[in-house]
Amino acid sequence: MSALHVEALRYSIHRQPILRGIDLVLAPGEFAALIGPNGAGKTTLMQCLSGVTAADSGRVRIGGHDLVADPVAAKRLLGMSIDPARLPPLLSVRECLRLFAGARGLPGIPSATLALCEALSLTPMLDRWIGHCSLGTRQKVGIVLGLLGEPPLLILDEPLNGLDPLSAYALKEHLRRLTGEHGTAVLLATHALDIAERFINRAMLMVDGTMHHDWSRQELKAIRDDPDRCLEQAMVEAMR
Ligand code: ADP
Ligand code: MG
Repeated sequence: MSALHVEALRYSIHRQPILRGIDLVLAPGEFAALIGPNGAGKTTLMQCLSGVTAADSGRVRIGGHDLVADPVAAKRLLGMSIDPARLPPLLSVRECLRLFAGARGLPGIPSATLALCEALSLTPMLDRWIGHCSLGTRQKVGIVLGLLGEPPLLILDEPLNGLDPLSAYALKEHLRRLTGEHGTAVLLATHALDIAERFINRAMLMVDGTMHHDWSRQELKAIRDDPDRCLEQAMVEAMR
């Protein structure tokens, strides 16, 4: 069973097409980067996949559950990073983690979540109000909330932006472990191609609301193994 199955997804704003028929299947254990220029529609696609935005037509299934017909079952299998601007400023980080754990039906903050907080240097911030945290810290909180309960599908919109190098590395290693050991499927929008290249096993290039190119595990390996090639160059070639 695929972790994510998207068919012919279309979405327009004021009659302007933003998603022009997106098809995408993600298998368990796939660590896929979603790359593409600003305005390509990556964030819009991720919002449609998580049900934040309702697509005009097409179908999204998460672990076999239809996002429209069976939203509770579908969303239970999905973790999505939270936009730092949408976090409650008057809760402490710990209170916010407890709240989200409760919403996931967990009795308390899972030990794996506290371990991830430690890896991201968030432990000293746990009892600080979110409104008093720096943007980078709030971004980490948004990521940890998305990963809470280790759902089988993770959708992360530019999670590496603004993270210090140590935390970015810790997050990538954590995601690699989840995909390798737990079979978690990850769709990660990023502009950090050099970073993406070393950790992912698939890359999708989105241009102007369409999936323009899809590099498989084997193709990425060939790019990695060739000292004269890199994903950045392959992306530029694919866009010509
Ligand atoms: P990306 O994440 O790839 O940079 P987005 O999904 O944010 O792209 O945006 C895709 C396109 O949709 C852009 O052209 C953007 O201007 C447009 N868009 C996004 N949100 C809105 C909105 N609320 N109103 C009008 N246009 C929007
Ligand atoms: Mg975006």
